[in-house]
Amino acid sequence: MSKQPGQSSISRRSLLKSGAGVIGAGTLAGWVGSGAITPTPTQPLNDSAIAAEPAGNNASLTPAQALQKLVDGNNRFVARKQQNPNQTQARLVEVAKGQKPFAAILGCADSRVPTEIIFDQGLGDLFVGRVAGNVATTEEIASHEYGTLVLGAKVLIVLGHERCGAVEAAVKGGEFPGLIGSLVQAIRPAVDESEGKPGDRLENAVKANVILQMRRLQVSPVISKLNQRR
Ligand SMILES: [Zn+2]
Repeated sequence: MSKQPGQSSISRRSLLKSGAGVIGAGTLAGWVGSGAITPTPTQPLNDSAIAAEPAGNNASLTPAQALQKLVDGNNRFVARKQQNPNQTQARLVEVAKGQKPFAAILGCADSRVPTEIIFDQGLGDLFVGRVAGNVATTEEIASHEYGTLVLGAKVLIVLGHERCGAVEAAVKGGEFPGLIGSLVQAIRPAVDESEGKPGDRLENAVKANVILQMRRLQVSPVISKLNQRR
């Protein structure tokens, strides 16, 4: 890997402004804060900036370009200038024949961070696994091996967010009904790791959890091999 996971955190305001932290077709730690839904002044967008693209368009993209597409989409969302690309009937027909998503995302199941909306993407663009606390379970890792190796996604992001209930539960501890405790257990090492650091305890834990889950993804030989290609 070219960078340590801790170097690839994404700013609270929006997604990272550069390709730093992108690791080949591999893993990027991400973080979206409340700034992602705070309108900020921007230049008017060119209507042709996001033209309809063929469903098999990811082959020509570099990881940095794939990340940039996400950054651009998130900036549009933040600025309330969404273009809602690739959501036409024609796109629907096109992706029915096959998918080539340009990015893969492991995000939280939280209803306030729907990936296609906050990145202003459409059908066939993103390969997404969402689970409370963006935990890299065995099945999530397997899914993202498929998304990157087989479908060819050029960048894989672990996306944490502010006020994550799953991370908050891990911070507070206690008894949990059903299988909720299994999520807390998977996040707990991040809480321990971030303990005592300056700043907000929950925010620190959310960021540490992104790094923790990214490390788990990187244990996959498939994903780590894709990282090394870069
Ligand atoms: Zn969450």
